[in-house]
Amino acid sequence: MTDIPEISAEQRHAADLLFARPWTFLKSVPSEEFLPEADRPEIAFSGRSNVGKSSLINALVNQNGLARTSNTPGRTQELNYFLTDAAKFYLVDMPGYGYAKAPKEKVDAWTALIKRYLRGRQSLRRVYSLIDSRHGIKPVDTAILTMLDEAAVTYQIVLTKSDKITPQALAHVIDDTQAKLKAHPAAFPEVLATSSEKARGLTELRTSILGCIV
Ligand code: GDP
Repeated sequence: MTDIPEISAEQRHAADLLFARPWTFLKSVPSEEFLPEADRPEIAFSGRSNVGKSSLINALVNQNGLARTSNTPGRTQELNYFLTDAAKFYLVDMPGYGYAKAPKEKVDAWTALIKRYLRGRQSLRRVYSLIDSRHGIKPVDTAILTMLDEAAVTYQIVLTKSDKITPQALAHVIDDTQAKLKAHPAAFPEVLATSSEKARGLTELRTSILGCIV
């Protein structure tokens, strides 16, 4: 495991404050012409269906119903935009990928939207790419990471559901993930581990986001 730089008390406080104010849903974007004006920085969350993306967004902002946890994986095909009055940046929930039963035309539409979004969105500062701690990076994730590399969008891996494995297994998956990232030029080298269930790693993730948008 590489050493993670110490976060000062001031940084933690500033990062937690950023997410303490109410966040609201702005809009769903089914295709690029509906994107809001790129007048502020934005960060996006991507991940396979069921990775725990909605739960993590809700945990970050401490609001249970903000991102809808979906009972039908693969249903959401839009980019969902969230904002707060406390800070001038957008949080973007990207549609989940890798749902085995998704029809081909939906997958194609998803891929086209994401490619255009990643290539064209100047205000996108970083994509947080969520990976289930129990599984690590799978081929379906590698395809997305490669898309991010090709679009030259910086991304950072966030492991989810860290409460579901032992600390030893978590250390192993962090090492393994960091080793795999060496093949990905746009990947940020540090891997974050989180649990929405146990509220672990949230301040670290908030601090990372704060670092991207200032
Ligand atoms: P999404 O499809 O990526 O938005 O995933 P969800 O946030 O809807 O979560 C999928 C499932 O994983 C739900 O049953 C959640 O309760 C569960 N889950 C999400 N995050 C965690 C976590 O940190 N720990 C545990 N144990 N379960 C989680």
